[in-house]
Amino acid sequence: KAHQPAMSPSHHGGAHGWDASGAPTPMHKRLDGKVAIVTGGARGIGEAIVRLFVKHGAKVVIADIDDAAGEALAASLGPHVAFVRCDVSVEEDVERAVERAVSRHGRLDVFCNNAGILGRQTRAAKSILSFDAGEFDRVLRVNALGTALGMKHAGRAMMARRYGSIVSVASVAGVLGGLGPHAYTASKHAIVGLTKNAACELGAHGIRVNCVSPFGVATPMLINAWRQGHDASAADDADADIDLDIAVPSDQEVEKMEEVVRSLATLKGSTLRPRDIAEAVLFLASDDSRYVSGHNLVVDGGVTTSRNLIGL
Ligand code: NAD
Repeated sequence: KAHQPAMSPSHHGGAHGWDASGAPTPMHKRLDGKVAIVTGGARGIGEAIVRLFVKHGAKVVIADIDDAAGEALAASLGPHVAFVRCDVSVEEDVERAVERAVSRHGRLDVFCNNAGILGRQTRAAKSILSFDAGEFDRVLRVNALGTALGMKHAGRAMMARRYGSIVSVASVAGVLGGLGPHAYTASKHAIVGLTKNAACELGAHGIRVNCVSPFGVATPMLINAWRQGHDASAADDADADIDLDIAVPSDQEVEKMEEVVRSLATLKGSTLRPRDIAEAVLFLASDDSRYVSGHNLVVDGGVTTSRNLIGL
């Protein structure tokens, strides 16, 4: 008789462990009972991480500066999801978000440093010859300092139980030059460096520290940046008072942006979506990666291995 697998696919509710709605079957809930904080979780990639964490059984605290979107998302996902207003560049805010998760759920297992900003996209702002020092500082404070503060307060909360996973969202701009503005590139390289350094220190306490580096994903961040870069007055005037940031892009804008990213991508035939980044974060957050630490998981369809890279 041919070898029979110990468990038929039906035991898993399907060969891949998820049902028709994309929800994992109980055996595949990879964060069951875990408590997680996701910064910048109100929209974009962070929202996808929040949604996937919840599907996998986690209790999630969304930490964001967008109260309206954060509250609405939390309310739509049920009692295991809460929103806390938190500017990641303000230490008291980060500390409060961690306290909130611990007081509500008694523990913290996962901290995802996802919040980030790209900075102004005008031609002048993007040049190393004319960038604004204040703007540079703003980007570094949110992306680099914000990530370090997340590691600090999550690390403190996780130490007692000698268990935890800190996952930060860096970027392909944290691996190569020519893919983003200078401040953004510096801040994302900083996240990769912080990840390695914090992994060295926190490993002694049983805490893993990793990061994920996405290529272009058609979120409000990328679409707003594209808009700014293509707004004629903004592109020519370093001081232009532009406020083109919109929270919810139209389907057409998302499709247009996805087409731009596809045209630049090395891997053809697929479109990088927020869910793809969330899956990589989930892997690093869960015990599936229990011996992985200090790693930068690049989710870029091979772009950073390509010699023929075209700058975004
Ligand atoms: P987004 O702008 O669509 O969403 C970012 C979220 O972070 C928003 O909800 C915003 O309110 C929140 N946020 C901004 N500043 C904050 C602060 N100071 N404190 C707390 N929350 C804050 O962006 P996204 O594309 O979803 O980006 C998420 C992460 O992914 C960022 O770190 C970004 O750099 C990174 N990333 C994005 C791409 C991409 O192509 N979209 C590529 C590589 C890396």
